[in-house]
Amino acid sequence: MTTRKFDYDTLAEKNKRYVWHPFTQMKEYINDDPVIIASGDGRRLTDVIGNEYWDGVSSIWLNVHGHRVPELDQAIRDQLDQIAHSTLLGMANIPAILLAEKLIQRMPKGLAKVFYSDSGATAVEIAIKMAFQYWQHKGQPQKQHFITMKEAYHGDTIGAVSVGAIDLYHKAYSSLLFHSIKAPYPYMYRSPIAGSEEEQTAFFLSELEKTLQASHHKTAALIIEPLVQGASGIIVMPQGYLRGVRELCTKYNVLLIADEVATGFGRTGRLFACDHEEVTPDILTAGKGLTGGYLPVAVTVATDEIYESFLGEYEEQKTFFHGHSYTGNQLGCAVAIANLELMDKNNTLVEAERNARYVANRLQEFYELLHVGDIRQKGLMIGIELVMDRYSKLPYEWQERIGVRVCRRARELGMLIRPLGNVIVFMPPLASTFEELDAMLDILYQSIKEVTQ
Ligand SMILES: *Cc1c(COP(=O)(O)O)cnc(C)c1O
Repeated sequence: MTTRKFDYDTLAEKNKRYVWHPFTQMKEYINDDPVIIASGDGRRLTDVIGNEYWDGVSSIWLNVHGHRVPELDQAIRDQLDQIAHSTLLGMANIPAILLAEKLIQRMPKGLAKVFYSDSGATAVEIAIKMAFQYWQHKGQPQKQHFITMKEAYHGDTIGAVSVGAIDLYHKAYSSLLFHSIKAPYPYMYRSPIAGSEEEQTAFFLSELEKTLQASHHKTAALIIEPLVQGASGIIVMPQGYLRGVRELCTKYNVLLIADEVATGFGRTGRLFACDHEEVTPDILTAGKGLTGGYLPVAVTVATDEIYESFLGEYEEQKTFFHGHSYTGNQLGCAVAIANLELMDKNNTLVEAERNARYVANRLQEFYELLHVGDIRQKGLMIGIELVMDRYSKLPYEWQERIGVRVCRRARELGMLIRPLGNVIVFMPPLASTFEELDAMLDILYQSIKEVTQ
């Protein structure tokens, strides 16, 4: 294989000139020296100058086994020898069929039909439209509203933003959005009530029940990030809360949409977050880890009850009128199949749990650092909330950009991570080794220490 050499300055100049980056203040960014990735291998990324970094957030929460995994690379090559893409509109293809079977075999019991798309946001749009239309088919067209959790994040398209609730990301578009009903999310570190985990669960469920009592007759569905609210700062639910939400949705005849885009495929230590509390949602969305972090495929999975409500004579116009150009893409589905097979072969879930315990142990050291307020972890989803003052839990002013500065220092020390405000996010690929985790945690500790002391 020939290695192409790229000149950093030329690329950086073209990057400034032509590329608009996501979630990035470009005025600031173009005055900085960008990292330009050239290649990856295992849990490492290499830039065009030859610097190596740990992929400490799994390339934004996606990566499962690492980069350039032989089995996954081969699955794409093999599929490429057949065909890259043909449409799923009115025809089928081999990998899309076989992946759907594999997914249903692994999904919470009761989920039955897979609808493909290409990002977490589109999977959520589809879930919203399915839930909305379902009630029309059931003769209850007044059930049109959605309940969501405060600080929720479900993606960046307009429907997904409408059920999102992070002011910083969503405020600018508020007049463009449909209204959603916001329920308080259990954020135990800053809870309005003191009390044990059980008491927190009971309190927040009773709050949710009030919301449901007042609005269930007009509510189509409740959408939630199960077990861990990700983008709001890796906020872990108290035990029993998710199960309680399922019971309340059933009681009040409101569909439950579990957005497992971040939590799915082993991230929390089980294949799906819902598995921890034996919950079956009516609709489950997944993406991110589905292809092992290789290609953009997402799914919206529904129960037969929902699917069957859409069946009817052609003239009844009950069809689900939704699709994307690349729905059911063969290359993506082929690598997703290979990802699931490799997870089975390598016992990735067991490995991820072992890694999670190992990381949990080491994270105890981080409380030595005075500005570490709260360390939250579920599986290999970790958030470290930094505070000005540990005793009063006084947050850092956002202008201080404490999270950005810690991540900047981590980059200098050889690890790429991204913060969520004052929360440092650590999400290593599930298949990292103990030695690799140690190296990453050393950098994490060092960066927090240097920047906060
Ligand atoms: C990342 C994320 C999404 C959006 O997924 P994209 O692929 O970025 O569109 C939706 N929901 C949750 C919970 C996520 O973490």
